[in-house]
Amino acid sequence: MAGRSNPWSLGNALRGMFAKPTIDENTWDDLETALITADFGPDISEAVIADLRERVQRYGTTDPRDLQLMLRELIEERLANYDPTLHLSERPAVILVIGVNGVGKTTTIGKFAKFLGNYGRSVVVGAADTFRAAAVEQVATWAERAGAAIVRPQQPGQDPASVAFQTVEYAKRTGTEMVIIDTAGRLHTKGGLMDELSKIRRVIEKQAPIAEVLLVLDATTGQNGLAQAQAFIEHAGVTGLVLTKLDGSAKGGFVLNVQEKTGIPIKLIGQGERIGDLTGFTPHVFAQNLVG
Ligand code: GDP
Ligand code: GDP
Ligand code: MG
Repeated sequence: MAGRSNPWSLGNALRGMFAKPTIDENTWDDLETALITADFGPDISEAVIADLRERVQRYGTTDPRDLQLMLRELIEERLANYDPTLHLSERPAVILVIGVNGVGKTTTIGKFAKFLGNYGRSVVVGAADTFRAAAVEQVATWAERAGAAIVRPQQPGQDPASVAFQTVEYAKRTGTEMVIIDTAGRLHTKGGLMDELSKIRRVIEKQAPIAEVLLVLDATTGQNGLAQAQAFIEHAGVTGLVLTKLDGSAKGGFVLNVQEKTGIPIKLIGQGERIGDLTGFTPHVFAQNLVG
């Protein structure tokens, strides 16, 4: 993950500015443009600049390279205000994966099952997006690739809550450590979708506490994605965010923006369509790659 190869790195936008001999008014204008363009949002951009101006003054520096270090540090500090730790100590640890259609839920589940498998955990995936047969086949293919077990609906269109129930039941019966539940994301049934998710939660909780509710967001959708997320955050007890498609996004600032706007920690990031393209979220590493 070298800074240069990240589409979301501020590196290119900032390079000219940090190569100048001294900090001047243009530096601040250029920095503001770079932050807004990268989707930090106007309020965070303004706060970051005010804070940096203050630090630059306090340290009495005019060197743009100091400014670069301060920017990296400040972003890291702000990112680290939220705890990215996944809480998966229950047995089984039940993880519900939610979000609107197309954001990358199913793909993330495949990658996450593999990620957990790499740590020696046994995993079962529940195909609780039962509305389309193709969705069941897609998640089953990912589970197979990841070396995870799969629990499918027994009839087409089976109640998603009942598939979730049977998946947890399978895990308890077989001693499988991790349960990951795929869900539908159809927006045209928003009210219905929230009810469906509540029902899934309620039915799972009859058997086991839910360890994590991960809301998947597509990083390329920016503010729209954030608006779509609100309903899930209000109704579904979200414990962590997964940002996908960062590989196709120039909007690295969205990471800070989305975390501060929702108040929910980012726990995983997806940067590609292959099974290995999922990583934990580490503020230090992210800030370094973002600022360069
Ligand atoms: P779902 O409807 O939320 O389950 O979304 P899917 O998992 O079916 O993914 C929708 C599309 O996004 C698929 O074409 C995936 O390959 C693609 N996708 C998912 N995650 C990523 C990612 O991190 N990077 C890229 N480039 N594509 C992704
Ligand atoms: P209700 O639909 O409002 O009566 O809510 P319940 O909590 O009773 O159950 C919701 C759904 O979860 C049911 O329609 C079933 O599909 C599923 N469910 C609940 N309990 C069980 C169970 O013991 N076994 C199975 N397979 N599914 C269950
Ligand atoms: Mg899906």
